[in-house]
Amino acid sequence: MSKIQMTTPLVEMDGDEMTRILWQMIKDELILPFVDLKTEYYDLGLENRNNTDDKVTVESANATKKYGVAVKCATITPNAARMTEYNLKEMWKSPNGTIRSILDGTVFRTPILVKGIKPYVSNWTKPITIARHAYGDVYKNTEMKIEDACKAELVVTDKNGKETRQLIHDFKGAGVLQGQHNTVDSITSFAKSCFNYALATKQDLWFSTKDTISKKYDHTFKDIFQDLYDNEYKDAFEKAGITYFYTLIDDAVARVIRSEGGFIWALKNYDGDVMSDMVATAYGDLSMMTSVLVSPDGNYEYEAAHGTVQRHYYKHLKGEETSTNSIATIAAWAGALKKRGELDKLPELVHFGDCLFDACVKTVERGKMTKSLSSISECKEPVILNSLDFIKAIRETLEELL
Ligand code: NAP
Ligand code: MG
Repeated sequence: MSKIQMTTPLVEMDGDEMTRILWQMIKDELILPFVDLKTEYYDLGLENRNNTDDKVTVESANATKKYGVAVKCATITPNAARMTEYNLKEMWKSPNGTIRSILDGTVFRTPILVKGIKPYVSNWTKPITIARHAYGDVYKNTEMKIEDACKAELVVTDKNGKETRQLIHDFKGAGVLQGQHNTVDSITSFAKSCFNYALATKQDLWFSTKDTISKKYDHTFKDIFQDLYDNEYKDAFEKAGITYFYTLIDDAVARVIRSEGGFIWALKNYDGDVMSDMVATAYGDLSMMTSVLVSPDGNYEYEAAHGTVQRHYYKHLKGEETSTNSIATIAAWAGALKKRGELDKLPELVHFGDCLFDACVKTVERGKMTKSLSSISECKEPVILNSLDFIKAIRETLEELL
């Protein structure tokens, strides 16, 4: 069989620990035998980030802007313990944060549904994708403790030094105070990424905030989405047969629980943080969540939602057998290759991406899985495989599908 050809390279971002081990296995077993793989390789492993003063992360993000599609392995975000473990020059920032700020993107998280792993919400038969606005609000706030009676005001000083004041609260005693902000630019980018991703995946888009209580702050989010929809996206949505739907967050929560899934739910930063954990848990577990960063101008970076699975890596280093679930990382490769195929009009590559994803699902549905999956699966007699044998089992299924 001749290998599937590519025309434009994928941006390949290698990473750390157990997922780095899986990364190589996935390439060797599932990609290189079938695809004449073209990638521009960036090693985002912590050691190389440290050696390059983290320039490699910035370069990989810029390459994503140039080529349009990237696939990323999970990476360590350094903390104090990692400083000593890797003898770091600096506590480098989270690569995901750096890449997201360069691409100005929104993260979309989708669970992978498999028969035999039932969501806790029994009517969720299709995946719910969460789009979380990743800038501002409580994550960039300023807080104060109020010790005694005082008058708290919002003060805004314009370019000419003119002040506008607004009373927040006349404190009669101790309390707390918080200032939050967001920007029209950031909300607009968020909205565009959501509309574009809904069109790319042909799914309805829901958006919800608390605009009835927050008549200026949250209402601005609602207005920006609505204006963009009316002026730029309405026709394309109608053509694609999908809808944009805004509702109050309380109402959205109730509707989501009663729904069958199969749509994108866009949320403000805090709501998205909370709801994505809720949705991930309700569908199964974190190792079955995929994640894609979409920029407003249409660049895509695919990855698994989980981290580097550190505990498994230490077992691997000791020569012990691991049974780490590689599905979310394989799904990231499948998504990236498929998107590359769509952009370059390479139907064979699109088909390969689809088959690679389906092979993961089918393999588990046939009862072959990793240890963590067997603990949430209803399969009566699961065959529990180690990390490499699981990938080899997926290869067998993939060869059938191709
Ligand atoms: P994690 O790597 O997601 O792992 C947490 C636990 O979840 C694991 O110990 C494991 O449980 C289970 N798990 C997660 N993925 C699994 C998989 N594919 N197969 C089987 N079990 C899986 O999160 P963490 O331990 O909090 O973080 C480890 C490192 O990852 C940190 O350095 C963090 O900075 C980084 N991180 C990176 C990203 C990213 O690059 N996007 C995201 C999150 C975290 P058991 O050990 O009980 O088996
Ligand atoms: Mg969270």
